[in-house]
Formats: sequence, structure tokens, C-alpha cells
Amino acid sequence: MLNRGYHGWTAILVALLGLAPRPGRAVVQWTMIGCEGASVQGQSIDSIWDNAALMAANADSVLETLTGNNVIKALTTSSNLANNAKWMFGISVNFGGVLPSSSKNTLNNVVRPVYRQAKNLLQSNNGYLICSGAPALRGQVGTNANTWYYNIPGTQDVIALTSQPPGIRPCSPPSQGTPVTLGQTFNGKIYPLNADITTLPTGTATVILFCTELLDANNFKGTLASGFQANDPSADFPDPDKYRSASGTLLHEMIHAIDTGTYQDQGNDQVGDNIFPDSNAAYGFNRCALLAQTHQSNALVNPDGYRIFAEMCMSSNTRWGMPKPPQAATPAPGRKRSVIGRDAPRLSLGERRAAGPGGHVPGPLDSADAGAMRLDYLGHDLEWSAS
Ligand SMILES: [Zn+2]
Repeated sequence: MLNRGYHGWTAILVALLGLAPRPGRAVVQWTMIGCEGASVQGQSIDSIWDNAALMAANADSVLETLTGNNVIKALTTSSNLANNAKWMFGISVNFGGVLPSSSKNTLNNVVRPVYRQAKNLLQSNNGYLICSGAPALRGQVGTNANTWYYNIPGTQDVIALTSQPPGIRPCSPPSQGTPVTLGQTFNGKIYPLNADITTLPTGTATVILFCTELLDANNFKGTLASGFQANDPSADFPDPDKYRSASGTLLHEMIHAIDTGTYQDQGNDQVGDNIFPDSNAAYGFNRCALLAQTHQSNALVNPDGYRIFAEMCMSSNTRWGMPKPPQAATPAPGRKRSVIGRDAPRLSLGERRAAGPGGHVPGPLDSADAGAMRLDYLGHDLEWSAS
């Protein structure tokens, strides 16, 4: 009895101690700078990091299930997840059948390896994670005059952010004419401390600038629990953009970090493809969905589509609202919103047909045809950027 009791209490103690990060065993694997006490909506940086890895693993396992030989029945959990993949990665889905082999190939050979690589990057020390603009210093670093840099803890080196505009401290809140940068992934240059003007960098490293204070101020969720319940009182189906998370944002940055040359924010003039008339990138659900329907190969290297798919799949029972059609984004002034309002419930034609008479979902019939979609600027209020 005594023995059993002892083990019982030990188990509880171990469980309790396990909740707190132990010295030397922190969850964050990268070298942290300015991350002491960093949190978003009460979630610690360790929880956020752990959740990003969970999201990547969950997305991979969802895709493994979808690409198996199971029938994707309309109006089921598997159709929720198949719709997520259709919208973010532009695959076709046969509701009532298995996934077409071309869709399976895309998901197995292109999408899943991205999630696995991102997860691998999260699980070993592959670079520097900077959580705040506060410790940034500015001055001459090597050949760069007036540049932002950080001291690398425990070393005599600094890391220079040569692409950060000299007048804007990293992780600054928005100001006139300046986009908000919540996260950024770049190849940082490492210099010896007090490098003079003739000094060349002694190395490079992957650096993720992860602006936790801004994510918190912009009401990002800290993390998304596995199987979380999404609800959206203003809509019949929840809007994925209302569940954007710090952990998802970290996953977005980690996908850049796989290969900053390949995984760039698509659709903007920075990348040179200029897909959207406003020259901004495919951030947010509606723009990522439009990109996937019109430029699938771009969507398959677009970090934000990967983020949103992973976030949506954390709630497998949620039937997310479809991407918003154009007439919804700009209702005629003075006119009562039609039933095809942007928050109206929507179901794709294919899935509705497959569901048959028993599968009625109230609301207007609406197809996800690419031609019927336009940009929805409402979905674009914050920017990530990468260089
Ligand atoms: Zn990005």
C-alpha cells in the first residue's frame, strides 16, 4: 500500500514538474534572443513552439489519412479536411470516392514533405529565434553602416539584420506607411563584436524574427489545442482568419526557413510574380484560396497556405466557411445584404451533389469556381514579409 501510494504521488509530482520547462530542456530548440518571458495570449514561447510542431505533425497525419483508400464522404470529418486541402493546395476532390491519384500525388510528394521538414527544423537547433525588438542595437557592423544588430548570447559575435530599414526598429508597431511585420525569416550575417568597417561576416545563420508583443496586441491566438471547437457567432460557418495563431505564424516562418529561396510569400512584386493587382502577397484565407485555384504551383510553395491548412486541421470537426466570393466583399451600398452575403453558409456544388437529398445544409448554393472568386481585401490587414 505504502509503495503504491508513494508511486502515485511520484507520478503526480512528475506530471506537475513536467508542466514547467526544465533548465537545459527547454522546448525551443533554437538559440533564443530577447525571448525571456515572451508570450502570446498567455501562452509561453515554449508552448507556442511545441504547438507549431504539433500542428505540422497533425497536418501531415491528416494528409496521410486523406491520401489513403478511404472514401471522402460528403458532410463528414474527412470532407471537412479534404475541403481544407482543396482550398489551400488547389487539389481536386471527388466527394463520394477516394481522392484522385493526381491529388494524392500532390499531397504525398509535395505538401507532406514540407510539413515534415518544418517539423524537423523545429526539433533541432537550426538558427536563432528573436522574440523582441527591444534588445536590438544599431550601428556600424562590418561594411554595413547604421544597421540593426543583436548580440548573440554567450559569444563575442553579433547578428546583423541588414534588410531591416535603419529608421524602423525590428518588431515596431505599425506607423504611417509602414506595414506591420509580425514575423520574418532571413539569412542573418554573423560578425565579431565591434567589427570594423573592413570586417567581412564570419558566417551566416537562419534567423526568425518573431514579434510576440505584436502578435499579442493583434489578438492572435497563442496556440490552438488539438480538436479545438471553432465557433463564429457572426457566421454560420467559422472564418479561418479568426483562428490565426502565434504557433501557426511560427510554422509559416519555419516553412520559409526550409529554403528561403523556394518558400517565399507568393503573389507579390517582391517575388516578381505580381499575381494580385495590389502587389501584396497571398496572406490570409481568401487570398491563399484564390492563389490555389488560379496558381497551384505558387500555392504549393506559399507559407501562409501551409499555415492556414495546419490551423484549420487542428479542428477536424469544423466545417470552415468557404472562401468569400467578390459580391460579398463589396455589397452594393444601401442595399440589404443578399443571401450570398459573405458570412452565409456555403457548400461546394460537388459536395452538395454528393451529399444527396439527406445532406441538406441550409444556405445558398455556391460554387468554388476560380472564375467566381475575386480578391477580398478585407482579409488583408497584416503582413508578414520575408527576404
Ligand atoms: Zn512569409
